[in-house]
Amino acid sequence: MTDAPAPALPVGLGDVGRGARILFSSGGSTGTPKFTSLTMDEVLHNCHVHGRSYLSAGVGADDVVAVWGMPGLMSSEFTVYLALAQAGCCILPIGIADPAEIARQVALLRATVLLVMPSDLLPVAQFLERAGSRLSSVHLVLTGGEALYPADEARYRELFDPQVRFRSTFQTSEVGAIGYQCDACGFGEYHVHDDLQLAEVVEINAEGIGELVTTNLHRRCSPVLRQRTGDRVSIIDVPCACGNAQARIRLHGRTGKFVNFGGEKFDVNLLLNLKPELGLRSDDFVVALNRDDDGRDRFVLHSQRVQRDAELRERVSAYFRRLSPKVSAQLTAGSVADIAFADLTGVELTVTVAGKAKHFIDQREPARPSDQQR
Ligand SMILES: [Zn+2]
Repeated sequence: MTDAPAPALPVGLGDVGRGARILFSSGGSTGTPKFTSLTMDEVLHNCHVHGRSYLSAGVGADDVVAVWGMPGLMSSEFTVYLALAQAGCCILPIGIADPAEIARQVALLRATVLLVMPSDLLPVAQFLERAGSRLSSVHLVLTGGEALYPADEARYRELFDPQVRFRSTFQTSEVGAIGYQCDACGFGEYHVHDDLQLAEVVEINAEGIGELVTTNLHRRCSPVLRQRTGDRVSIIDVPCACGNAQARIRLHGRTGKFVNFGGEKFDVNLLLNLKPELGLRSDDFVVALNRDDDGRDRFVLHSQRVQRDAELRERVSAYFRRLSPKVSAQLTAGSVADIAFADLTGVELTVTVAGKAKHFIDQREPARPSDQQR
């Protein structure tokens, strides 16, 4: 028996062998692990701040909170329980189980709050729709990790208490708790925990949108100093109706997710933005990139609703043709093909290592070496 090979430690982790530390790793959107080394004091402080996000969303001592997410290798999942503890609520951990079993337990234990990533909520929602049943004890759905778009929210309203509220929190294991929603925050809007994070917005474009850069004031082992988050945000500069003066930001999705399209760098987010734009449901939207027999790259939008609606298809085509001078020139030159449409046959909605819905697939084989994604 020989020792497993020990690769060099990632830069920034320090001497992980000694001292009161805990190590987390996040997949990030690329699947390349990012390591974070924290003292327990740092973890507890972050949980304290993040707990305020739950309180602000309305979690209270009367609630039974069903919490999705599985503890695993270097997972920070348990910190959610520590943060929730501040609300004095009852916690119901939900591991991987089939949707029918989850629905049964939530109904049996009268869970009032679901704390869940939208991608994990979808199979339960689909199960409830098929079964024609509703979990009427649930009055709050609290999401994080990815956006729950208004079209999905409208659909899920039918499945819980008629007065159900949808709120979300904003934190990453890499930089810690960032934001929370009060009752007055709309879709994608957050107050910043400005006693923990110094938030800045850099490279602001003409629409006032730039990248969120943050400094965590309570991290020493793995300092977060003016760190780029990859999140596109704008600053909301009108006072919030809730009366709280803490700064507010509006999230506009992730920064560039680039692929090689006809030999040029193309930001896939420009197409992924069509989902909220057209009000498409989560399980009715996949963008695929493939290559025609003549070697031209082509995007295909897979959606039953768009496939059925000529007006929507025309809207998407017009949007694509006017996307950028570069794309227009490529289309004119015939170096790439126009966007095409299809139903959902042959594409499957999958999730990333981090469990987030993957609405984009590159079906070209083999991938070009220069293809990159982040
Ligand atoms: Zn507010």
